[in-house]
Amino acid sequence: MPLALYDTWSRTLRAFTPIQADHVGLYCCGPTVYDHAHIGNLRTYVFEDVLRRVLALNGYAVRHVVNITDVGHLVSDADEGEDKMEKGSRRTGESAWAIAERYTADFMSDWRALNLLEPTVWCRATDHIAEQIEFIAELERKGYTYRTADGVYFDTGKQDDYGFLARLDIAGLQAGKRIALGEKQRATDFALWKFGPPDTMRQMEWDSPWGRGFPGWHIECSAMSAKYLSPWFDIHCGGEDHIAVHHSNEIAQTQARHGTRLANFWMHGHFLTLDAGKMSKSGGDFVRLQTLIERGIDPLAYRYLCLSAHYRSSLRFNADALDAAQSALDRLRRTYVRWPDGGTPDLDFSARFQAEVDQDLNLPRALAVLWEVVRSDLPAATRRATVDRFDAVFGLRLTEWKEDAVAVPVDIAHIADEREKARAAKDWNEADRLRDHLRAEGWHVEDSASGQVLRRLDKMQ
Ligand code: AMP
Ligand code: ZN
Repeated sequence: MPLALYDTWSRTLRAFTPIQADHVGLYCCGPTVYDHAHIGNLRTYVFEDVLRRVLALNGYAVRHVVNITDVGHLVSDADEGEDKMEKGSRRTGESAWAIAERYTADFMSDWRALNLLEPTVWCRATDHIAEQIEFIAELERKGYTYRTADGVYFDTGKQDDYGFLARLDIAGLQAGKRIALGEKQRATDFALWKFGPPDTMRQMEWDSPWGRGFPGWHIECSAMSAKYLSPWFDIHCGGEDHIAVHHSNEIAQTQARHGTRLANFWMHGHFLTLDAGKMSKSGGDFVRLQTLIERGIDPLAYRYLCLSAHYRSSLRFNADALDAAQSALDRLRRTYVRWPDGGTPDLDFSARFQAEVDQDLNLPRALAVLWEVVRSDLPAATRRATVDRFDAVFGLRLTEWKEDAVAVPVDIAHIADEREKARAAKDWNEADRLRDHLRAEGWHVEDSASGQVLRRLDKMQ
């Protein structure tokens, strides 16, 4: 059975074959760095990382490009409101350039903590202003643009199939006109270049043939994917929210300039939701990976949680689901670490695993195969070699795990300190009470010559 992937463009599962033998070009829309990434954003990058690993498992060399949006993403998708970067700058009191730098660094640290493979190319929008201007100029030459008082716009009326990716009801949109059009001719038209305000200087703006200003959000992805891959490449990914506007507009621009719809396959990850509803950066109420780490959760337990749901179904996030993922990962590590090296992978299980991941990345079923291997009566060394092969896709870093590598959360360390003080003061009742408290929190404390040793109860035999 060949690799089959769900393509949003055709709304079907299609057998995957690369455009160029053995090579795959993969472009993934990256973060807008005006704030931290939340774990919802990170779910999308885990899905894309798994896709990349499955492509590698199938023998393809993957060229993976991820952009960093550090200018031009406006608060409203309708090309209105402030640039998110300038808004973030007002919120934090730092310059737009400084927050871009800081949030990019934070994002990359989340990236590494989740064991996401390093992209072949990271590219920033602000490093590619010339490419974006050239792209817009070409669209202008071809007659796809018009000017208004506040910018240069793409004329979506020139394309019969505009919005096909999202199956947009263009007639309905025009009739409804729910959004303020300003000088835009159609609701679906979008900014390619926005003029800076006449009275003040923005922090991020550049000269262009149309005047001082900054690029619209969508043009960076069309320009940079053409530069680092080609105007026609294999797979373009993002979260499901990108289908209706961002990706529809990337396609419109590239079709107008190069006559292609960018990618042979369009793949979209569904959202992580909170019990309260969808998680969004602009909502302000979001959970970061760092928040989980501070609560003693291993980032790879979050990765495990992502693997346990198919990327095309939404994943509801809550503490119970995360705890279950952490326990499953702990159990797996504790078992794995006892298996000796030197085996060879079991072929039947390997074939079953491959069939699951090749069927549109069915990671939940692939995890079920993993647990079958764990519980099987195969020799331990065979189980280890088989699971190692699977972990090239799961990315749980099983070979690197050490039993004592479990971090003690701050609140647990604090209780242990109090207990140490009680013992030093020979207050045995208080010391016992604190030991019971630790036990209730899931920690076992032992007194050794060099002080207390804390171990998690669920890691003990
Ligand atoms: P942004 O930084 O907002 O441009 O988003 C970065 C990536 O995260 C994009 O691919 C979005 O589609 C994706 N995304 C945003 N919110 C969520 C969510 N709640 N769950 C999964 N992916 C998301
Ligand atoms: Zn994009």
